[in-house]
Amino acid sequence: DFVDVDPFGTPVPYIQGAFGAAADGGVVSLTSTDTAVLCGVYPEVCRRRYSSLPLKNEFKHETALRILLNACRRIAGMNDIGIEPIAAHSTRHYLRVYARVRVGAAQADRSRRQEGFIASCEKCGERGSSSLPIVMCDGCGAGTLSAGPLWIGPLTDPRVVGAALNVSRRSNLGGGAKALDALLGLEYFPPFSYSVERISSALKVPGVSQSEVMRRLASNGYRVMKQPFEKTGFKTEATYGAVAEAVSAVSRDARLEKAPLHARPT
Ligand SMILES: [Zn+2]
Repeated sequence: DFVDVDPFGTPVPYIQGAFGAAADGGVVSLTSTDTAVLCGVYPEVCRRRYSSLPLKNEFKHETALRILLNACRRIAGMNDIGIEPIAAHSTRHYLRVYARVRVGAAQADRSRRQEGFIASCEKCGERGSSSLPIVMCDGCGAGTLSAGPLWIGPLTDPRVVGAALNVSRRSNLGGGAKALDALLGLEYFPPFSYSVERISSALKVPGVSQSEVMRRLASNGYRVMKQPFEKTGFKTEATYGAVAEAVSAVSRDARLEKAPLHARPT
């Protein structure tokens, strides 16, 4: 069975009822128009409502979805119910998550192990996730704030996303198909993304095209995909160092292409 919660503002007051009402194996979907709070505009309100610190950075919508899912996980867990996210999206002013309900203490414990923290260093751009708060950047040693606690596990069930995508295409549901298509392969990537603008500015090199950087990483053997929850950005399994190197290389090549022939190295 399927329970859909679509309130005005935060869905927090309805989480316990929704997960309690759904049968084992059923699905709960929740909409939140509390986007500004979950995206870090009002961090104190987010801590009060969701018991989680948001971070307002270039992947704030993904972080918001993960905070919302962890609120579901925590509240359902109080009644020995576990959750398994199926799909999520951030569209215009609202966020939406879909999760399967798994009844039982062992299932709730399994879900709890997907709780963690995400850090993104303001100084050098390094990022990471961990089951404990990250207080120091691995890249440069600077002190860092972690978003969380939040859901660091998978956001999608690839079988359901694939099947729903086929149905959307067959039924000519263009918007739905586009949103589902953007989620394909998400399970391979860490719970954060990179922004080419941020990295170029940290490296003090001229901005470059995101698709060029993605192509470069792919040709270096890394998986890459567009960040499905933000207007720009990309996800990759490459380390921050490898991403920064790709941005530098693309920037250098772009400068060389623009340079007059006699100034190019031979
Ligand atoms: Zn750093």
